[in-house]
Amino acid sequence: MRELTIGIDIGGTNTKYGIVDKEGNVVFHGSISTTQHEEFKDYFKSMADAMQDALNNVEGDYKLLGIGVGAANGNYYKGTIERATNLRWKGIIPLADMLTEQFHVPAIVTNDANAAAVGEMVYGAAKGMKDFIVITLGTGLGSGFVCGGQLLNGKHGIAGEVGHTTVNYAGRHCNCGKRGCLETYVSATGIKRTVYKLLADYLEPSELRGISFDNLSTKMITESAVRGDAVALAAFEYTGRILGMKLAETVVHTDPEAIFLFGGLSLAGDLIFKPTIKHMEANLMPVFRGKIKVLPSLLQNQAAPILGASSLVWNYLDNQNLHLKEAII
Ligand SMILES: [Zn+2]
Repeated sequence: MRELTIGIDIGGTNTKYGIVDKEGNVVFHGSISTTQHEEFKDYFKSMADAMQDALNNVEGDYKLLGIGVGAANGNYYKGTIERATNLRWKGIIPLADMLTEQFHVPAIVTNDANAAAVGEMVYGAAKGMKDFIVITLGTGLGSGFVCGGQLLNGKHGIAGEVGHTTVNYAGRHCNCGKRGCLETYVSATGIKRTVYKLLADYLEPSELRGISFDNLSTKMITESAVRGDAVALAAFEYTGRILGMKLAETVVHTDPEAIFLFGGLSLAGDLIFKPTIKHMEANLMPVFRGKIKVLPSLLQNQAAPILGASSLVWNYLDNQNLHLKEAII
């Protein structure tokens, strides 16, 4: 009988869900609006109905093993979503319990960057690795740490928020309320802020002049850099320098084998990887030099958030088996 899991990625605009097997094949995927329903219970009903429809259409015999959810402010320990600023429902939502009650299987909730890290370990480039970091470069900067084969959650489920460690104490204002956080420099929004600063400070001609902040995108900056635009190239060099210096500091905490860059900015390839690696190496404690790989995620496709979420279930079941074996020994 086929063993299947469901992965759900709750984004600010859309909720993507998919049915996934152990090899990472997405048997079915779909999405519903995250913003359409004012009441969480109405949203939950439409999500549960959609998933039940999807399950009804699976061909052949199967067993649903569990449901994994990646969401901003997902709390791994409590299975809740707590005061997520990008979602319209306030307070604490007991999502894992609601899913278990509805589908009678275990449900695991965590934040989207942690889900990406487990996804890399279960399906991606970190297969077989026990110590690594995943940095997700989207609108903000998320991060997931795996140490000794276990996702690092910490006391409150918020361990390893590298995006909100400080680059400059008097620096750019951040959504979290602090100043100078890494994500205000290294993220889709961060590199746009850098382009604007460079355009203001220097007089070089640039094809990015005259484009409004809202219309400017990482893709446009990447394409301009490929065409040799001086401001776009300088923006990537600056972004890579900040990221590389921060990674040099970060590896000291967990001594990882590799750091994976995922999403958005990481798709710019050498433009971001080269300066990041150069400045990381230049700032590493000598004992780490030449030992830490900085690599692209292997889960760079549309299904990545679903895979990340569903991987939580396989990871959970593997850990359960491990505990069982230990108990028997
Ligand atoms: Zn911050």
